[in-house]
Amino acid sequence: MRVTAGTDVQRRRWLQWAGVCSLGGAAAAASSASVPVPRIVASFSILADITQALAPAGAEVSALVGPNADAHVFEPTPSAARRLAAADLVVTNGLGFEGWIERLIRISGFRGTTLVASRGLRPRMAGRGLDPHAWQDLANARLYVANISAVLQQLWPQQAPEIEQRRLAYLAQIDALDRQVRLWLQPIPRERRRVITSHDAFGYFGDAYGIDFFAPQGWNTDSEPSAAAVARLIRQIRDQGVRALFVENISSRQLVAMIAKEGGVQLGGSLYSDALSGAQGPASTYLKMFEHNARALAEALARAA
Ligand code: ZN
Repeated sequence: MRVTAGTDVQRRRWLQWAGVCSLGGAAAAASSASVPVPRIVASFSILADITQALAPAGAEVSALVGPNADAHVFEPTPSAARRLAAADLVVTNGLGFEGWIERLIRISGFRGTTLVASRGLRPRMAGRGLDPHAWQDLANARLYVANISAVLQQLWPQQAPEIEQRRLAYLAQIDALDRQVRLWLQPIPRERRRVITSHDAFGYFGDAYGIDFFAPQGWNTDSEPSAAAVARLIRQIRDQGVRALFVENISSRQLVAMIAKEGGVQLGGSLYSDALSGAQGPASTYLKMFEHNARALAEALARAA
């Protein structure tokens, strides 16, 4: 994924403009005007990667909340506002995930198209609110792909055939991965499929693949878990024999490590919940992230069995 800082975009555009002027040729101006570079901003790294996979070649796609960062507690910066202002399209998750986005769009002066990628999805409930982590189910990813590719084709009709090819190729990868995940989990008895993570981000994954996830924090990360919630998890580890505990890339490992120690079990490793890893990490794209999580879960549950 090419993540471009706002200042670089502006500098490059200025240079392009300066270049066109210095050439002074109508042909150069016409060719740069006839193929405008799509400028797309997604709210967080996972959505930026899915969008990049579908966007026509040459599109500039960037994420407001980058790899390994927590979108729940993101505080928009002036540079985020400038990046939005220069974009043609903003892609958000919706379902209350980006509580900060509407205000940011308003103050940035953004005049382009806004897409809520989860549009039309049937959300699961988490406590009293909606669970926003819908990307943790590959069936929902298919809907994200449909929504994103439709708006890309609408905005850049000249590149519609290329976008369509990318859409079909990406859907084929999603389907292959879904079959693989089901094969990995198949040998694990349903009653053993219990996992603890830092925050409640895997409800959709659990519904799709038959795993019960427990977490000391709710679906949001903006508050500390209660002592009662932590004590309840430690009891669950002992009483129900939960053997698989994971930290997340966006959360501190301290709390889950403490729960693991109190419960007398080993940590199963890291899961990627709300953000990708860096380019060198095991979850540098959405599909790699999903594959990494599924494999790590299957291995930890198999060890626990
Ligand atoms: Zn989350």
